[in-house]
Amino acid sequence: MKVASALPWIAPISEQILQQYSKQRLGHALLLVGQEGLGKRVYLRELSQLLLCSQSQGTPCGECSSCHLFNAGTHPDLLMVEPEEKGKQIKIEQVRKVTEFVNTTAQKGHNKVVLLGPAEAMNVNASNALLKSLEEPSANVTLLLYSHQPSGLLATIKSRCQHFAVHGPSFNDGLIWLQQNSQAQLNDQTAASVLRLAASAPLKAIEMIEQDVHVQYMQFCQNMVDLQNRQVQWNDLLSKWKNWDMQNILQWFYGLLLDAQKQKAGLSADGLAMAELAGQSQQVARQAQYGQIEQALTRLSEAQQAYRSQANPNTTMMTEALLIDWLGLLGQSAH
Ligand SMILES: [Zn+2]
Repeated sequence: MKVASALPWIAPISEQILQQYSKQRLGHALLLVGQEGLGKRVYLRELSQLLLCSQSQGTPCGECSSCHLFNAGTHPDLLMVEPEEKGKQIKIEQVRKVTEFVNTTAQKGHNKVVLLGPAEAMNVNASNALLKSLEEPSANVTLLLYSHQPSGLLATIKSRCQHFAVHGPSFNDGLIWLQQNSQAQLNDQTAASVLRLAASAPLKAIEMIEQDVHVQYMQFCQNMVDLQNRQVQWNDLLSKWKNWDMQNILQWFYGLLLDAQKQKAGLSADGLAMAELAGQSQQVARQAQYGQIEQALTRLSEAQQAYRSQANPNTTMMTEALLIDWLGLLGQSAH
């Protein structure tokens, strides 16, 4: 499998899956779990091609009519179910299509595959709608699910799937891989900083580089230092960050709060999520009570939740709340 050779940390899982497949022991529902940015989805896409291929021999042939349809993105026996917009929910109408799909005959007269994820993007209603397809498996249908946060899945969904856990490479192996595979020429320091930001997930790091997130992050760090030194007004930052992905901003503040909490608890400053802003999280650890940091973390989780579930979240207001919270923790007033 191409993906497994390009992403060496996927290889052990791929081997397990292929072995079971060759012995016809692969379950009708698979669930790949692991943090975002390890390639679970891209691997499952290749696996669906394999399951649909009519002449596969351990890898998709690339030649048969099924493979041609697959590569054209028009295979009638493949259903992809993903949020219409990244970071949003999978809607119940999308899941209802799964039920319809599994109950029709395969058009190529062979297997049918549903690729769905991230599974935690389904709310309770959508999950319950999917359960029907999981409980009454149809012959020749395989459901391929992936999840970045399996803790957010219904137990009933998890218990009906065969689990595979994908583990990423070590930080150093990830760093070597990133420098070999990124189109951008990254110096060691930048590569390490992006990879840390991507929580060691190499494909997440690549995506961040492509979207210039690492450039934004450097700006973010500078802005946060200036904010602490009162060299910038907090409300000036609203316009500076206006076009950034809100999920990143939420994630960075989350990292800062976790770092502050860690330092408050007297843990060593090694391995901070936001090492570039160690001075800032340290000041919060000095200034704020443990409970205040805890409360800020709770509000932040709620904001993440709200961002995911709302159709048009007010990102300016969200950013405003984050900044005011942060200033409070620093012991500075927003006015
Ligand atoms: Zn083929």
